Amino acid sequence: MKRRDFFKKGISAGIIAGAAYPALAASWEATADNEAIPNELLSSDNLPVFWDQLTAPDFRRAVERAQGVCVIPIGVIEKHGPHLPLGTDVMRAREMCRRAAGLEYAVVFPDFYVGQIFEAMQQPGTIAYSTEILLKFLHETCREISRNGLKKIILVNTHGGNSSLMTFFTQIQLESPRDYAVFAFQARDDAETQRQITALRRSTTGGHADEVETGEMLVIAPQYVRMDQVATESGRNLNRLVLSPNVSTGISWYAQYPNHYAGQADGATAALGEVRLSARSRQLAETIKIIKEDTATLQLQNEFFQHSLSPLETGVW
Ligand SMILES: [Zn+2]
Repeated sequence: MKRRDFFKKGISAGIIAGAAYPALAASWEATADNEAIPNELLSSDNLPVFWDQLTAPDFRRAVERAQGVCVIPIGVIEKHGPHLPLGTDVMRAREMCRRAAGLEYAVVFPDFYVGQIFEAMQQPGTIAYSTEILLKFLHETCREISRNGLKKIILVNTHGGNSSLMTFFTQIQLESPRDYAVFAFQARDDAETQRQITALRRSTTGGHADEVETGEMLVIAPQYVRMDQVATESGRNLNRLVLSPNVSTGISWYAQYPNHYAGQADGATAALGEVRLSARSRQLAETIKIIKEDTATLQLQNEFFQHSLSPLETGVW
């Protein structure tokens, strides 16, 4: 999800949203539980993209084909307005990874639903693990992925409440030497995608379980979207805490959106959701390709760890 009021997102140039995936969308919709991978998304030698769908012998080939790249789809289990399923962020992350890995092969880790979501603990269905657990769980997951030969790990997070955690987690990778690198993917809607979204959407506010996010879910898992319940709660900003643009505090989101719904989703359509989903999936595929080809990150990381052992001997550049 995005939280426009909290996180201003930049515009990334160079990624063209292009046409949506009408043929693929049709084949996904034809899949009852959306679990099977359409043939279009299997790699040329029929390797599944999902870690848990690979056999052990095929896993070796997958690591090689992925050139050591693993993506972790990250979301949380939390309320998404009165109309979207609790696993909305996890499903969106998984779908984005599935599409991207189909375009540019990478191994997709199983759903990672442990994240920062204390601000929704007052709502039914939220799973909010302690800070210690979520940091440790993510760390040990990366360590296990690396132990299995995948040395480039991309965090693909769709939950706005995790944004700071993703940045923090990548920063603390320098705490001690390791033979893998962690990258945080940040989806950004380019100008063309924004133009298409503006042309298709009816509402002007958003941020959580809004018209666009609901549109994405109408593509991914329409069977779990309850549009008949969309009008039962308000998604307007209550503005209950107005301090200063110079400060932030943990209760701000709750002060604005205690229903955990920001926006007006009643006009949502699958066509609108497909625009964002396909654009971001292509952006992720492009990122996977760049990281596959990258040798500098691990090289610099190793150099850094080496120098950090004896800072007095570190030279001057
Ligand atoms: Zn979320």
